[in-house]
Amino acid sequence: MSKLAYKRVLLKVSGEALMGSREFGIDLETVGRVADDVIACLDAGAQMALVIGGGNIFRGVAGAAKGMDRVSADHMGILATVMNALAMQGVLQARGIDARVLSAIAMPTVCETYSRDKAVHHLDHGRVVICAAGTGLPFFTTDTGAALRAAEMACDALFKGTSVDGIYSADPKLHPDAERYDRLTYTDILSRDLRIMDPAAIALARDNAIPVVVFSIRTPGAVLEVLRGKGRATTVTRD
Ligand code: UDP
Repeated sequence: MSKLAYKRVLLKVSGEALMGSREFGIDLETVGRVADDVIACLDAGAQMALVIGGGNIFRGVAGAAKGMDRVSADHMGILATVMNALAMQGVLQARGIDARVLSAIAMPTVCETYSRDKAVHHLDHGRVVICAAGTGLPFFTTDTGAALRAAEMACDALFKGTSVDGIYSADPKLHPDAERYDRLTYTDILSRDLRIMDPAAIALARDNAIPVVVFSIRTPGAVLEVLRGKGRATTVTRD
């Protein structure tokens, strides 16, 4: 078994990555595929925390654009992340894995409330920690929630599973000639406004020296490859 490049990892997956070929909502088969990738990382000896977005169900900005109060709309988005987290917990538990949803917003009859100590305790016991409800605050994103939790839990890396195999100079789906990078700095992302994560998330990762690794979550086995410091990905560090 090859050595791991990172021991404790926070994996951020967008809500859309759970849709499979649907246009909305949760495709449990796709959740299962991501869960299998997470289990492969556990089996390889890593500690795994997850943050799942909510964009497959609701985004606050979309509600606000249609005239809703932004705070209420963001609360709906936050609740969408809890639904996704519960789906992942259920699928992992059905595979015999001890997984715990920890929500930034207290809902004690549904799941545990997030605290750093509780999260680290679960990780140290080999459980998958699923951090739900983002930061718990409107006007933020789950990318920022992921960077925040990665800093709190002293994760060795923040993995961002996307629909493409790294960071490009422009959206490769719209610009087939866009340049792909193997390595970038936090400053590259911020100064060139490369829209891979929101700037608050990148700034948090930079300030806490957490490497950000961007790769395609659609490629089965990619998470384990990246965990081993291999595979096709863009790694973002200080230099
Ligand atoms: N959200 C929020 N605060 C947070 C995290 C999420 O208000 O800390 C809301 C926001 O409305 C956002 C939605 O939840 O649009 C879903 O999260 P996100 O857009 O990050 O999901 P993803 O794009 O990763 O699926």
